[in-house]
Amino acid sequence: MHNEPTVWLVGAGPGDPELLTLKAARLLAQAEIVMVDDLVNPEILQHCPQARIISVGKRGGCRSTPQAFINRLMLRYGRQGKRLVRLKGGDPCIFGRAGEEAHWLRERGVEAGIVNGITAGLAGATQCDIPLTLRGVSRGVTLVTAHTRDDSELNWHGLAQGGTTLVVYMGVARLQQIQQGLLTGGMAPGTPVAMIENASSPAQRQQACRLDALCSAAAAFKLKSPAVLVIGEVVNAAAAELPSQRAG
Ligand code: SAH
Repeated sequence: MHNEPTVWLVGAGPGDPELLTLKAARLLAQAEIVMVDDLVNPEILQHCPQARIISVGKRGGCRSTPQAFINRLMLRYGRQGKRLVRLKGGDPCIFGRAGEEAHWLRERGVEAGIVNGITAGLAGATQCDIPLTLRGVSRGVTLVTAHTRDDSELNWHGLAQGGTTLVVYMGVARLQQIQQGLLTGGMAPGTPVAMIENASSPAQRQQACRLDALCSAAAAFKLKSPAVLVIGEVVNAAAAELPSQRAG
């Protein structure tokens, strides 16, 4: 039998505090220390009034806590046997580095458990009544980040031709590349796109547009991070119609 890990990498979900799992709530209630990323809704910390809270936001380069520092802190507490929760926005394994962090800790003898959260792309689509898969329309979903460490280009052709709904994370600063890449890759110019900002929080905003009007529509809408894009015919299947803009 393995001992239950004392260090847990936990998904906080996309924003709505009720989208937290029961397991996450239990681990938070038991935690002595909680290290929180900045996309986490602070209301979730109501589950751990007893814990020491350490903010380790790392957004977009500024005010950043270096990954090495976060790792060392987790290792120190892990070795001390402290009950530590590392709370991450959405799902810790979707663009959340949980795999890297868990591996890094395990290599140094500290067992780390991972708890799923609802990832922003899934929550955003559901909040807009968009079914990400739909019989006869979309047979799968591809979650993809538009941001790469070395600025290398994505396989736009593969993404455009894959026949799955695309959910793009970290795309706000790369709309031009997304629009151009998918069009050049052969995706139909009229493919509908939903831009969903602050999914599942009271600040959520959404807007639909055509792929060939993505950049102008996003500018008119003043799309800001955090936002996901849902790209594919399923956007037109939303039970409630999204506000949309005529291509400018
Ligand atoms: N682990 C997170 C993703 C972290 S990467 C998850 O599973 O959701 C950060 C990116 O996630 C942002 O750039 C944005 O694209 C997306 N994101 C995170 N929270 C969001 C939210 N509430 N609404 C829309 N997009 C969000």
